[in-house]
Parts: sequence; C-alpha cells; structure tokens
Amino acid sequence: MKIFNTLTGQKEGFRPLGDEVRMYVCGVTPYSECHIGHAMSYIIFDVARRYLEFRGHKVRYIQNFTDIDDKIIDRAATAGVPPQELAERQIAQYFSCMDALNIRRADAYPRATEEIPKIIEVIQGLIDKGHAYRTEDGSVYFRVKSDPDYGKLSHQDLDALQSGARVEVDAEKEHPLDFALWKAAKPGEPAWDSPWSKGRPGWHIECSAMSLKYLGEQIDIHGGGQDLIFPHHENEIAQSESFTGKEPFVRYWMHNGLLRLGEVKMSKSLGVLVTVHEVLERYTSDAVRLFILSSHYRSPLSFSDEGLEAAERGLERLQQAAGGGRNEDAGGKPPTIDVDAVRQAFIGAMDDDFNTAQAIGTLFDLAREINRARSEGVDVKPAQALLRDLAGVLGLTLAEREISLDAQPFIDLLVQVRTELRKEKQWKLADQVRSGLEELDIILEDTPKGTVWRKGRKQD
Ligand SMILES: [Zn+2]
Repeated sequence: MKIFNTLTGQKEGFRPLGDEVRMYVCGVTPYSECHIGHAMSYIIFDVARRYLEFRGHKVRYIQNFTDIDDKIIDRAATAGVPPQELAERQIAQYFSCMDALNIRRADAYPRATEEIPKIIEVIQGLIDKGHAYRTEDGSVYFRVKSDPDYGKLSHQDLDALQSGARVEVDAEKEHPLDFALWKAAKPGEPAWDSPWSKGRPGWHIECSAMSLKYLGEQIDIHGGGQDLIFPHHENEIAQSESFTGKEPFVRYWMHNGLLRLGEVKMSKSLGVLVTVHEVLERYTSDAVRLFILSSHYRSPLSFSDEGLEAAERGLERLQQAAGGGRNEDAGGKPPTIDVDAVRQAFIGAMDDDFNTAQAIGTLFDLAREINRARSEGVDVKPAQALLRDLAGVLGLTLAEREISLDAQPFIDLLVQVRTELRKEKQWKLADQVRSGLEELDIILEDTPKGTVWRKGRKQD
C-alpha cells in the first residue's frame, strides 16, 4: 500500500519499522466544544487505523490532550472555574462526541499536565546539546539555527518561513522563529516546578515528549490537519530529531485537508451548525462519516446540508442492501456475486493512499449487485456479509434506526392484513395501509419472497 508523505511530497510504499504500526495523532486543546473540523480529522485517522488493521497490521495509536494553554486559562477565567476543571469537562465532552461518531478510542490519551517529568527531561536534553537556551525570565526556547534542516516539512528555509509567519521580533529570543519549550508563569497562572522557573510546557514539546514516551524514538505515522504542518509539526521534528539524534522522527507524515465553513452557499440552518453535537442532532453519525469520506482526505471539504442529505440517502441504499429483506429467507439460487473481486477492488482503492471515495464507490456497486441478485432469488448472504465487513472498515455501522419493540408485532400484522387485501384485490384498502405506514416512516417493499418492511429515515 502507498501513503502520501508530506515530508517528501509523494506517495511512498508503506512498510512499518517494527512489528506494530506506531501512530500518533495530535489531539485537541479542550477549551470548547468539539466542532465538525475535529470530527473530520479524527474520522480520517480512525479510518487509516481501521484499514491498517484490516490489512493485518497491529496498530498502536496515541493521541494527546493539550490540557493547559492560554485559551484554557482565558476561558476558565471567564467562566470562573479552575483551568483543570474546564479541561476535564471538555475532555468528557470530547469523548462523548467521538464515541457518537464511532471513532475508536486511542490506546492512550496522555495529557500535558500529567507528563511534566518527561517534558522536562526532553527540554533539559535539548539545552545540554546546545539546541535550547534559557532566557532571563526563566523561559526556555528552541534554537532554530541549531537545526540545519529546519523547515524541511513545510519545504521552506528560515528566511521564507520568517517572512511568511510574520513573527514579531522578541528581545528575549536569539531568532524570531525560536519557539518556547517552557513558559515561565505569569502571576496567577497554573505552574509546575522545573529547573528553570515555575511555569508550564509549550505546546510543541508536549507532542515530542509524548510520542517519545509512548511510541519510541522513531514512529511510523504522524497525523494531523494541514494547518499543523507549520509551525507545530515542523517544531516537533526539530525537537525530536535534535534530542534523539535519529532521523527521521516520523516515517510518514499524513495531513488532512481542512474544512470549509461559511464560504459556500450554505443554508441558514447550517450556517450555525458547527459543533458535532448540533450536526448529530440532525444527521446520523454514519451519514457524517460517509459524507466526510466521500472526498479525498487531503482535499478541502465544504460542509453543506445538500451533501449530508445525499449521504443519508446513500446510506439508506447501503443499509437496505446489507440488511433489507431480513424477514426474508436467502434466495434458493446459489450466490453469483464475485465477493473476492469486490474485496480486491476495495483494497485497491484504499491501498492507494486511503482513497475512501473510490472505496465507497465499490460499496455502492456491491449494493446494486445485491439488490439485483436478490430480486432474481439468488442467495446474497455472502455478499451482504462482505458489504457489512467493508463498511465496517470505514467505521460505518449500517445500523438501522431503532424500532420500538412494542410496535414491531403491529407492523407485522398490518403487513399481513395488506397481503390478504391484495389477494382479494382490495387494492384501495391495501394502498391505504401502505401509505399510512409510510407516513409513520415504515417503508414496505414487495419482493418475490413476500412483503418486507423497514424503518425509513424521516427526520422527526
Ligand atoms: Zn502535536
């Protein structure tokens, strides 16, 4: 399989360093509700992980929480709560969002405030090797000039980066692009003891330290949004490679495209629909995943009601093919769908830098074949199992909406009555039953094996 590596700018054959794939994805700063941009990024890396496992790899997946930073301190002060309380609350909220989106949990979620000893060890190591220096106030900065290939991830040299970033000259720093590894605390801020001052870690050093502690000196995949390439990931490389003396710190740098909100024609309702919570009130998590995965992960994605509604309709087709006709026995004729060929087509798409859009195309082709075969009385069970299996690699549950257990026998009864009415050519009454059920979002389908019903997807 091939993965596009931001560092080299090309697709490269994937071979993990050891017997398990070591994967690190930058986590959130828990100061506000998770929004749909988070959903996009974490769904993409969730699928990368699921697919690697599907291909037989063992994956160790680590994601951090930046549970102390300026935004948390500001928000907590506004809300009148301690910063840690705010972070704790938002972390709980983060997990509930990600669980609802069927994003599998990481193997560990290290938090900045709980990894201070490791962070101090790495900073001290960088100072000892001449890669970092302490300033008068007790802060510590990374010395970008000490790293000859600084800028290699964003493919720019120091001068270009400096003019691009428009960094302010700071008398304390040797070079404008030098960045804080340790920030001396201002009065009233949360602070930890260190050899340099009471203070807290900078953002970038956290990921280097955690990656080192939880995954080792060199890892296979590091992921994040394209907005993290510079300065965050550039700085992670500088810190990690300067500290360990080993290159590369990361074999494959994966970056997802960014979400576009607001710039395209967007319905009024969607204009305010930004948080995951709000999106999930109106759309199923399967539909959100299908919508996001229908574009290539490196492309920007424009969020729209139309796109999500189309995803709901597409999902319905997949669900129907995978599970529809559950009241019906398998057809008598032997299976005709070449499941191996479908599986290979899916793998071919995903092996090409996780081309989920094309992979989803193979699922729809399969769904069409299932429907055709079923109408011809062919056994579609193996094909349905494959469809559910491959959908699962994309994290799609294909779960049908919950039907109240109490309602089920009554629906069955009405379906039976309608069948009897049809036998007696009471078409008008039979149609009345069908349309009545349809209004209640119960869809009937007449098949050669009899009438089956399913719950529709009407939003109510
Ligand atoms: Zn990071």
